[in-house]
Amino acid sequence: MRVHVVGNVCVDTTYRLDRFPAAGETLNASEHADGLGGKGANQAVAAARTGADVRFHTAIGSDAAGTWIREQLSRDLDASHLTMLPLPSDRSAIMVDGRGENLIVTGASCAAAFDPLADGGFARSIEHGNIVVMQGNLSPETTRACLRASRDAAAVTIFNPSPLTAGYAPISSDVSLAIANAGEAALLTGAAEPAAAAREMIRQGAGAAIVTLGAQGCLVADGEGRIDRIAAPRVTVVDTSGAGDVFCGSLAGCLAAGIDLATAARIAVRAAAISVGRAGTLGSGPDRREMKILME
Ligand code: ADP
Repeated sequence: MRVHVVGNVCVDTTYRLDRFPAAGETLNASEHADGLGGKGANQAVAAARTGADVRFHTAIGSDAAGTWIREQLSRDLDASHLTMLPLPSDRSAIMVDGRGENLIVTGASCAAAFDPLADGGFARSIEHGNIVVMQGNLSPETTRACLRASRDAAAVTIFNPSPLTAGYAPISSDVSLAIANAGEAALLTGAAEPAAAAREMIRQGAGAAIVTLGAQGCLVADGEGRIDRIAAPRVTVVDTSGAGDVFCGSLAGCLAAGIDLATAARIAVRAAAISVGRAGTLGSGPDRREMKILME
C-alpha cells in the first residue's frame, strides 16, 4: 500500500557557536553545515526506509535550494512530483551554543502557500486503503481539507499535529490515527496524563491515538480506549531532534506493509530510539537495512 506524506521540506543550516550573539552583534560560527529538514521530509524519508512506496507531496521554491532539496530527497524516494512555487525555498537557521541550547528562525513561505488540492492532483492520487500522513507545518485550512479529501477517498489518515502553532487543524473524525508527544497531547486535550490525553483525542474523533513518551516509549489507545504501553530500549542520548518524525514515518511504513498497529508501534519505538543515539535529524534514523531487521 502506498504512503502519501503531505508536508514541508526545508534546508536547515546549523551554526555552532560558543555563545549566541547579542542584538546588533556579528559572530563567526565554529562550524556550519546545510542539512535537509522539515517534519514532512523527515517522515517521508523514514517511511521510505521501511521499503514502503512513498509519494511525498510538498513544495519547493524555484531556486538553487529547491534543486538541492530535490537531489537530497532523491536518495530515499521518488522526488519527481514536488510542486515548484515562485517563492524562495523554505529554510531554517539553527544556532547551537556551547551548552547545546538552540535558537531557530524559519522562513516557511512554501509551506504556508502550498495547497496540494489546488490542481486536483492530490485527490486523484489517493486510492482506497492508502495511508496519508500529515503534520502541523502546512496551513490549518490546507491540512483540514487534505485530511477530508483523504477520508473521502477511503484512505487511512495519520495526523501528527506538530508543531502546534496558533490556529492548528483540530483532531476530527477525518483522522484515523492521531500521534502526539506528551507535551503536545496535553496542550491539545487539556489532559496532563498521557492515557487520558489519548482517550480525549479519540473522543475528539480520532480512530486511535498514540502518545509518545520520550525515553518511556509510547502508549497506544485503540478505538475502545484500551491502552497498550510500549517501553523504549535504553540508549545513550546523543540528539533527540527528529525522534518523533522517525517514529511517525516508520509507523506509517509498517502499517503499509500490513503490520498491525501495536506491532508497528513497537517497531517505531525501536527505530526512534536508534535515531536518538546518533547525531543529526534525517541521517540519524535507521537506514533501509536496519529497518528491514527491525521489521523481521
Ligand atoms: P518528539 O521527538 O516528538 O518530542 P518523543 O520525545 O516522545 O517525541 O520521542 C519520540 C520517540 O523517540 C519515543 O516514542 C521513543 O521511541 C524515542 N525516544 C525519544 N527519546 C528517547 C530516549 N531518551 N531513549 C529512547 N528512546 C527515545
